[in-house]
Amino acid sequence: MKITRLTTYRLPPRWMFLKVETDEGISGWGEPVVEGRARSVETAVHELSDLLIGKDPARINDLWQTLYRGGFYRGGPILMSAIAGIDQALWDIKGKALGVPVYQLLGGLVRDRIKAYSWVGGDRPAEVIAAIRSLQTAGFDTFKLNGCGEMALIESSRQIDAAIATVAEIRATFGNSIEFGLDFHGRVTAPMARVLLKELEPYRPLFVEEPVLSEQAEHYPRLAAATSIPLAGGERLYSRFDFKALFASGGLAIAQPDLSHAGGITECHKIASMAEAYDIALAPHCPLGPLALAACLHIDVVARNAVLQEQSMGIHYNQGADLLDYVLNPEDFRFHDGHLLPPSRPGLGVEINEARVIERSANAPNWRNPVWRHADGSIAEW
Ligand SMILES: [Mg+2]
Repeated sequence: MKITRLTTYRLPPRWMFLKVETDEGISGWGEPVVEGRARSVETAVHELSDLLIGKDPARINDLWQTLYRGGFYRGGPILMSAIAGIDQALWDIKGKALGVPVYQLLGGLVRDRIKAYSWVGGDRPAEVIAAIRSLQTAGFDTFKLNGCGEMALIESSRQIDAAIATVAEIRATFGNSIEFGLDFHGRVTAPMARVLLKELEPYRPLFVEEPVLSEQAEHYPRLAAATSIPLAGGERLYSRFDFKALFASGGLAIAQPDLSHAGGITECHKIASMAEAYDIALAPHCPLGPLALAACLHIDVVARNAVLQEQSMGIHYNQGADLLDYVLNPEDFRFHDGHLLPPSRPGLGVEINEARVIERSANAPNWRNPVWRHADGSIAEW
C-alpha cells in the first residue's frame, strides 16, 4: 500500500481534519491543529507530505521518526501537531486495513470504559451551579472549571477572595456528590499559585491544572510540596522529550498530553508509559473534535494510568459546530453514566461525514484566542 494524497480541511468551530488517501482505496483521518494557528499547522502538514507520498502507511514507527528526525529543527506546537494528525490518520488506515480498532493494535483493553468530565463555563457562581445541575441530569458527576480569571503578577486579596468564593459556593451547593478540577490556564504566577492553592485546599478540588505555565515547570515540585491538591499539566508540552524533565523533577500528579499536539497516538502512548513509571496519572487534554477524542480514547483504554478524559461536547469554544456534527456514527460517542466506551469500529472508529466536511470547510473561521490586558495596559495570560 502507498500513500497517494493528503487533503486538509479547516472547519468550524476551530478545527482542522486531514484525510490521507492510499492507492488501495483505504483512507485515514486525523486532526492536526493548534487552536488559533490552524493555517500554520496546515502549511506544516503539506510541507511534511514530501516525506509521506509514495510511502507504505503501515510503517508508522518509521514514518513518525522520519517526520520528527527528518528535519534538523523539530518539536514545538506547530510541527508536533502536524505530526500528531498525520500519525492519527496512519493508525486509522492500519486499523481499517486489518479490520480492528486501534486499541487492539496497542495490545488491547486494560479497562472497559473511561470516565469523562465536562467543562463548565460561566464566571458567576449562579451560572456555574446552573450549568453543573443541567450536566448532572446528563449523567456527569465530574467537571472542570476555570479556577480564576486574569491574574496580576501579584494579585489583590479582593481578586483572590472572588476566585475562592465561587469554588466555596459550588462545594457548599453540591457537597461531595460531584468532583471538579480547576484550570488555572497558566494565568497565575508562582507566588500567586501558592496563595490560591492554600486557599483552595479546604474545598478539595480533584486537581489544579496548569498552576503555572509549563515554561515555568521548575515550580511544580515546589508547589506540590506546599499543597495536598494534585497538580495537573502538560497540554502545552509536545513530546516525550518535553515531558521528561517535568516527570523527573517531580510535582506532577496528572499528565495531560494532547493527542493532537504531542505527536499523536504513537508519541502519547509512550508518554503514558513514561508517566506510569513515575506513578503519574494520565488525563489526555481534548477540547477539540471527534478524531482527536477518538485518538484519546484508544490511549485511555490501553494505558493503565489513564483516569479521566476531557471532551468538548457543548464547550463554549464550539461556536458554529459541535463535537459530533461531522460524524456519521454519533452513537459510538454517547455517554454512559458519564463514561465513554472504546470506539469499536476498525481504525479510529470515526465515520466522517465527508460531504459535510467539504461543505463546511468553505467557510472556516480564523479562530483566535482573545488577547487580554491587565488594567494597566500590559499583556495578560489568557
Ligand atoms: Mg487547560
